[in-house]
Amino acid sequence: MIEPNSELVIDYELVRNNIQVIKSNLSPSCKIMGIIKSNAYGHDLEKATHALDDSIDGYGVVRLQEALKIRESSSKPVLAMQGVYSSDAYDALKKNNIWSVIHSISQLPLAKQYKDDLLFWIKVNTGMNRLGIRLNELDQFEPLFKDSNVLMTHLACADNPEDALNITQFKNFDYAWNQTTKSMQRSVLNSAGAFNFPDQAYDWVRPGIAMYGGIDFPGLKTAMTFRSQIISIQSLDKDERIGYGGRVKTKQRTKIAIVYCGYADGFPQTAIDGTSVIVNSHQSQIIGRVSMDLISIDVTDIPECKIGDWCELWSPNLSILENTKKNGLLSYELMTKMSQRVKREYLNI
Ligand SMILES: *Cc1c(COP(=O)(O)O)cnc(C)c1O
Repeated sequence: MIEPNSELVIDYELVRNNIQVIKSNLSPSCKIMGIIKSNAYGHDLEKATHALDDSIDGYGVVRLQEALKIRESSSKPVLAMQGVYSSDAYDALKKNNIWSVIHSISQLPLAKQYKDDLLFWIKVNTGMNRLGIRLNELDQFEPLFKDSNVLMTHLACADNPEDALNITQFKNFDYAWNQTTKSMQRSVLNSAGAFNFPDQAYDWVRPGIAMYGGIDFPGLKTAMTFRSQIISIQSLDKDERIGYGGRVKTKQRTKIAIVYCGYADGFPQTAIDGTSVIVNSHQSQIIGRVSMDLISIDVTDIPECKIGDWCELWSPNLSILENTKKNGLLSYELMTKMSQRVKREYLNI
């Protein structure tokens, strides 16, 4: 065995396939603002910009610095989704042709100054109550109601189509729209919205997590493989205890394998016994508490499992959602929290 390491293998062909799955649900005229904030949800901002340039119509990020980075390698639209706050930053938007979101009345004075030079997405608060202009303040934004600008909102419960807040938000968005010139473009949906409410797609959808395969809709695949190697195998008798706290006591003779990664690599420390992993194409599972640098898995029923074999913690063959659902976690958080020490490899950029 060569020196083991934990690895993140990111396959951009799978990300592009996921984008096709998202598109197949929408009208062909609907444009895709691919969200690549937080280092493309852990998939690398720069690699994403190269690999996705032909698959999407624009890039959405949070910060100006991220937007400027994208501008170095792409001429596609770039949207700084949390807006900017100083005239220096507005100048940078202008110089680099970057779009930005106006979500608060406090941004209005500067936005008005730059209204002929910049393209804005005007974000209304339709009920999520995080960012956005309140409906009764919207009339003050009249100078920005131009056809080149976009009216947007963000849904709080897009992943739960039964929640009544969705209908409230659609109604409020319509109300906001009716206060404008009604010729601006519109954008409402994130990933879950694109699948659950395709009739609200309008001109732009803003998928993030779906591109990476981190939500559960048919056809989507987890595009990142998180894997590491087995560095030890233990054959235990009945009634032996495993790992910190001795959380597990064996019920019979048990073979466990120790995998070279732990919570310091980004694997959730709280993972319960039974959390799925894959070894040599066989399903296996976590047994015992996850430690900083090691994970123990049950390989009693896996034939010919040996030191040096790879263990997949999630991959295209083992959705990251298997892990997050069992453990009450979010795929978003796991993907964006992978630690620096995990070796990265990118395929099909
Ligand atoms: C992060 C974000 C998105 C993408 O959300 P996903 O659930 O990852 O698709 C879309 N719009 C806004 C405003 C966001 O902040």
